[in-house]
Amino acid sequence: MSSPSNIKRIAIFGSTGSIGTQTLDVIAANSDKFSAEILTAQNNEDLLIQQALRFQPNVVVIGNESKYLKVKEALKETDIKVFAGEKALEETAAMDCYDLMMAAIVGFAGLKPTLCAIANGKTIGLANKETLVVAGEIVMQKARESGSVILPVDSEHSAIFQCLVGESKNRIEKLILTASGGPFLGRKANYLVNVKKEHALQHPNWNMGAKITIDSATLMNKGLEMIEAKHLFAITPQQIQVIIHPQSIIHSMVQFADGSIKAQMGLPDMKLPIQYALSYPNRIENNFPRYDFRKVDTLTFVEPDLRTFRNLILASIALEKGGNLPCVMNAANEIAVYAFLKNRIGFLDMTDVIEKAMETISFIEKPTLDDCYASDGEARNFVANLIKL
Ligand code: NAD
Ligand code: MG
Repeated sequence: MSSPSNIKRIAIFGSTGSIGTQTLDVIAANSDKFSAEILTAQNNEDLLIQQALRFQPNVVVIGNESKYLKVKEALKETDIKVFAGEKALEETAAMDCYDLMMAAIVGFAGLKPTLCAIANGKTIGLANKETLVVAGEIVMQKARESGSVILPVDSEHSAIFQCLVGESKNRIEKLILTASGGPFLGRKANYLVNVKKEHALQHPNWNMGAKITIDSATLMNKGLEMIEAKHLFAITPQQIQVIIHPQSIIHSMVQFADGSIKAQMGLPDMKLPIQYALSYPNRIENNFPRYDFRKVDTLTFVEPDLRTFRNLILASIALEKGGNLPCVMNAANEIAVYAFLKNRIGFLDMTDVIEKAMETISFIEKPTLDDCYASDGEARNFVANLIKL
């Protein structure tokens, strides 16, 4: 199946989420350039059906198999193929009816389908940072082998990627990852001990899915992003610096060998890095609101408070030590965030249980993919038992 050469065919894995829906917005605004060929969702079958009827993809996949019949029935008047279940996600990722996968599933669940797409040499728009956190070496190695290009969608990494255009021969001295600081910037443990999900879900600058919003409040998001950066840009832990920049106008920076710093700036709007990944290496016009220096005229920067937001320390340890430790940290974090969202543990407990998992699960220096799956399962069980989920 080949496409008219001017249309890039997009597969959105996780089309009903925050990144997925914004990717569809970009496609809808540029229907002369992009088409949606594959849409997938885990549970939200109503939105998936609505998206399928509007965008007429080749294939839809509903992860939760109990919802298959409802989706199939709703799309029976169309030519859209409907599949269900985890295996179908992988099989669909291996299909040749698309050019670029927007990897927008949340968490470890995004790893397998993305690996299938990589094995098939697809271009990946990578929103799912957990993929690189849990198996970064393996993922990047497989991409090199298959020739698959990985384009970062995470705003910080897209910023760095954009700063690096034309700089391939120049040594990077340092990457400076900016962080908004989240809703609890400036708060201390005596305040955080009582915060509930309703507070933590109020992000000042970005409107995102629940898991990443909690990760932003605990700063684990920045920890995951340090590890993501190490793999994407092949740099050492010492070359990564995190700085709090509450306005989220500078999306990240690169300092080169001569000390010169390049920054990528704009209003905080994920549609921009999404569109850049879809249209790369070109930039396409849009009507997104523009940043105006006269309106937000103060950009500030402070050091992260590592004493209060200890997740950043845990992530630095995982970044330095490598092996299966980032995978263990990620799995423990996924369960901790899930438990916090269910009001089963407190805000500060999340860090404590992640730390315990990192201390307990056996360290593997050079994990295989099977080791990654095993460490993920082990860490999930460990935390679930610890907090009696
Ligand atoms: P979300 O929760 O809004 O959406 C997640 C999507 O994944 C949904 O379509 C859901 O159906 C699907 N999904 C969930 N669990 C699944 C499973 N087990 N199997 C298959 N599909 C599953 O999440 P989001 O905020 O869009 O984030 C998606 C990814 O992008 C995350 O890895 C996040 O860290 C990253 N990211 C998001 C943003 C943002 O602004 N939202 C920014 C940068 C990076
Ligand atoms: Mg980010």
